[in-house]
Amino acid sequence: MTAVSRTIKQIIEPQFVIEGADVLLRRSFGPSRANLFDPFLLFDHFAFNNPIEGPIVGFPTHPHRGIETVTYMLEGNVRHRDSLGNVGVIGPGDVQWMTSGRGIMHEEMPRRGPTGLINGFQLWVNLPAAQKMGRPRYQEVKESSIPAVDKDGARVRVVAGEYGGTSGPVTEIAARPLYMDVTLESGAQASFPTAGGHTVVAYVFEGSGRFGINGETPGESVEAVRLAVFEEGDFVSVQAGPGSGVRFMLMAGAPFRETIFPYGPFVMNTQEEIQQALTDLRNGTFVQSEPESLTES
Ligand code: MN
Repeated sequence: MTAVSRTIKQIIEPQFVIEGADVLLRRSFGPSRANLFDPFLLFDHFAFNNPIEGPIVGFPTHPHRGIETVTYMLEGNVRHRDSLGNVGVIGPGDVQWMTSGRGIMHEEMPRRGPTGLINGFQLWVNLPAAQKMGRPRYQEVKESSIPAVDKDGARVRVVAGEYGGTSGPVTEIAARPLYMDVTLESGAQASFPTAGGHTVVAYVFEGSGRFGINGETPGESVEAVRLAVFEEGDFVSVQAGPGSGVRFMLMAGAPFRETIFPYGPFVMNTQEEIQQALTDLRNGTFVQSEPESLTES
């Protein structure tokens, strides 16, 4: 059997949306009952770099239940604090993989970096029904602890999953994700093995590249800023375009194939479970911050 390069199924142009307190985002997709990108629920790009947009207010305290939120910054930073007492700054090249489980309340405040720019992403990953009411968990990884593989004109920062024998620091995620920041010099080629049956997307945010190269088949060009969605296959192949090359986030994950019911910052499986989340919020029982040692037996 010959390994098959994944061809492009769809190219999505992100739409500008306003979220939180007047934060302008480029949204490629958001949570929907159709669950078209299972296990991924949302992909947003923070890139509000026009000075006339004024000060950035951010995302004041809000809850999450039933999902994971993944923040990866390139420029600028996000200050965050949460109901479990965590406080920190997600800086350039850092990642925060937050598993909300049954509930957290947090605030996320993006700030411009020294260049005056902000560039970063937030991905939402679903949790399977059996883990939606689990304990919240954070994996925070600093820039210096995310390995980069340099090979044949490609630089691949591996956040989760494996590339060229190097594994990313974020582990034990239900969706078994691959999450990588890929930069290719002009004309360079690379290919990325992806598990059969997994959902695979690539968010091209700089330059352009041809994806889905297969023998004599030249593939299809994707220019920044676009999200490419791939067909079934064994690997993603790419060749950087002319000029400045290409940079993209490559994401893959195992679909859960469960019915979902999204509502704002919650994604559960049924409307009743959403109702319960709202009831818990109202009753002050949404967050349970018991120490880990007391809940494990
Ligand atoms: Mn949030």
